Amino acid sequence: MKVGVIGLGAMGAAMASNLAKAGYLHRIWNRTESKAKSLAARINIDVADSVPKLAEECDLILICVSADKDLCEIIERLVPALNNKHIIIDTSTVSAETAIHASSLVANKGAHFLDAPVSGGLEGAKNAQLVMMIGGEADTFNKVQPTLKTISKKQIHLGTTGSGQACKAVNQIMAAGINQAVSEAMAFAQAMKLDLDQVIDVVSSGAAGNWFLQNRAATMVRNNFESGFKLELHHKDLTICRKMAESITAVETRLPIVEMTLIHYQRLMKQGLGEKDISALFQLKQKLFVAKEAD
Ligand code: NAP
Repeated sequence: MKVGVIGLGAMGAAMASNLAKAGYLHRIWNRTESKAKSLAARINIDVADSVPKLAEECDLILICVSADKDLCEIIERLVPALNNKHIIIDTSTVSAETAIHASSLVANKGAHFLDAPVSGGLEGAKNAQLVMMIGGEADTFNKVQPTLKTISKKQIHLGTTGSGQACKAVNQIMAAGINQAVSEAMAFAQAMKLDLDQVIDVVSSGAAGNWFLQNRAATMVRNNFESGFKLELHHKDLTICRKMAESITAVETRLPIVEMTLIHYQRLMKQGLGEKDISALFQLKQKLFVAKEAD
């Protein structure tokens, strides 16, 4: 299968590099051309002249863009060039509703669509250790699974289109709670004047251990929020989760962790920190203890 990748941000570039290593990658495209050119030079792959051109040159197209409207823009540009040889795999985090809409546009041209959001962070993308939550036709999933194994350690087919994104929403609610817990507990540890590297080491090894603590706490406590997952993207995900929760029941449903984290991220985004890693939440948690000391 000739694979094309559209969207070469942090995650897309890492997945493209692994597809290139496995010999599957054929073309790449990115809105900001300079990023595509610099990756192309590093992995020795040609940049497609346009989105439709990439579709003409590839049969499996993997997309990784920021949000729902961005995916819709890409799909609109792809559709005229699609036919029944094409399989589109969207790894962006968007709503299940958007995935279903994109899938129906693609199906109108006889092509196939899988929603396939990922988890595992930038580290998972770089090391081909992502997990993929997949919705769409089982036959299409079976066809592409060998290719997906070159970018991920686990691929789970959850059901019809949109079920991958529904599962990703579960993941994102949990990630919000974990960020709240880790950043608050580490600010507490700092206020207690404990050796923070020792705290991370011992707590990571016990029942409260988790990926975020292991991979983000050491940089967080050094006020380094550069790498990883932009908090404006997690904010986008949590607004999707809120909408999905509201659609489940007739009565107004509010998920406390989602609502609290949205408020916290909005505060940080107002301070211009939207492009920082989600661990920047630590800065708000630290303020709880500064206020206490000043009393
Ligand atoms: P990123 O580094 O900000 O990259 C975003 C990519 O989307 C860039 O290539 C950007 O192009 C492209 N893009 C945005 N709007 C576009 C549009 N309208 N048309 C064409 N291209 C557009 O973000 P990321 O961290 O790679 O995340 C990408 C997706 O994966 C998001 O949905 C995110 O929620 C999800 N995700 C991220 C992580 C993580 O840890 N980072 C983990 C799991 C899932 P330009 O270069 O031109 O801006």
